[in-house]
Amino acid sequence: MEKTDKLKSAWDKLDRNQLDLLEGINKEYLTFLNLAKTEREAVEYIVETSINHNFIDIADAKQIKAGDKLVYQLKDKICALIVMGENPLEDGANIVASHIDSPRIDLKAQPLYEADGQALFKTHYYGGIKKYQWVTIPLALHGVVCKKSGENVKVVIGEEADDMVFTISDLLPHLAKDQMEKKASEVIKGEDLNVLIGNYPLKDAHSDPVKANIMKILQEKYNIENDDFASAEFQLVPAFKAREVGFDRSMIGGYGQDDRVCAYTSLRAALEVENPQTTAICLFVDKEEIGSTGNTGLQSLLIENLVAELFTKMGEKDYFKVRQTLANSYALSADVNAAFDPNYPEVFEKLNNSFMSRGVVLTKYTGSRGKSSSNDANPEFLAKIRRLFDDYDVLWQVGELGKVDIGGGGTVAQYMSWYGMEVVDLGVAVLSMHSPFEVTSKADVYMAYRAYLGFMQSFLA
Ligand code: MN
Ligand code: MN
Repeated sequence: MEKTDKLKSAWDKLDRNQLDLLEGINKEYLTFLNLAKTEREAVEYIVETSINHNFIDIADAKQIKAGDKLVYQLKDKICALIVMGENPLEDGANIVASHIDSPRIDLKAQPLYEADGQALFKTHYYGGIKKYQWVTIPLALHGVVCKKSGENVKVVIGEEADDMVFTISDLLPHLAKDQMEKKASEVIKGEDLNVLIGNYPLKDAHSDPVKANIMKILQEKYNIENDDFASAEFQLVPAFKAREVGFDRSMIGGYGQDDRVCAYTSLRAALEVENPQTTAICLFVDKEEIGSTGNTGLQSLLIENLVAELFTKMGEKDYFKVRQTLANSYALSADVNAAFDPNYPEVFEKLNNSFMSRGVVLTKYTGSRGKSSSNDANPEFLAKIRRLFDDYDVLWQVGELGKVDIGGGGTVAQYMSWYGMEVVDLGVAVLSMHSPFEVTSKADVYMAYRAYLGFMQSFLA
């Protein structure tokens, strides 16, 4: 299909069958958003769903041949779906990489304290947030405690309708005269993001009776001791559910759509890839929001290790083939871009910015100032992607992250390109990105799915 005319909407071009499919995909997407609010929960969902669709754990695969469907996971935080192609692997793979971490508020290693009759948790935010958006909303606590015994205790509190939730307080307007004069970046400071978790004192406690009572509850109900927080990962995320937005129900609102909208749509596509000529790899990674660092981020050798594992399973010992595979691959950095916001037109350049409901967003370059830290995709590769959009009836638009010199950002594209593979950003336009309630268009969710399916199923000549 053609590039969506800037004045038209993807909704105008969808027929009855496509609209039905679109609603089905978005319904499941809502379920995914509500079940998978952390990278670990996303991995659980993706691996379980793939096994239900006849993917085999790569650890259980004795040998590998064309047509095989494999699932790979590492450290419970990243995973990949692989559909082996007819062509030799060293000819290259078609790789789609999204990230399953999202901005949030993490607990510190020693979080619990009592102040003025309240029990609170100290926190450290993760990723780029506007801190003032995270106060006075219900927060759910998700995480895992790794006990010295080797036991891992999973915790999810605040997602069921009758669960308790947590919250960060803010000053009442009556007393906020000084606060209201501050810059938005200073209204709420990082060390002020302390989460209210209790107000009931334990009888006969020697000191800090409210904290003592919380410790008692944590121990009795969750088997958590104070020192266990040092070997735990706890994340506070918005407790509310993802919902349809608008009288026309045309949009999806919810937490973590950057980048679970690309994760879900590429997952959905990968499940449907059958006997491709080129091996398809659908990758879900962690730590993008803090620079793709750590051993679960794309600055690590995780893609290389995955391809090496595939060759090992095929009995291939020539390591150069791993490098050939990566250098000969085509890749999509499946990540979101900022949707044009009519409330803030001054930061966008209308001709090159993406809009909600105008299709999947092809972003040649990200970066800031003079394209600093951008991957800047090669036009030869972009021509192949345009041809693919024609073949797979994908409505699309170009994207750029705001006006030149206004700000900027990056994605995993730059880290994938290290290997020599061709890579470009392709994803969904998001309104209120990085906020507790991000908004996308159902039509764009559907188009992203079509684009990823076409890419993973195709031989890109
Ligand atoms: Mn992202
Ligand atoms: Mn982001």
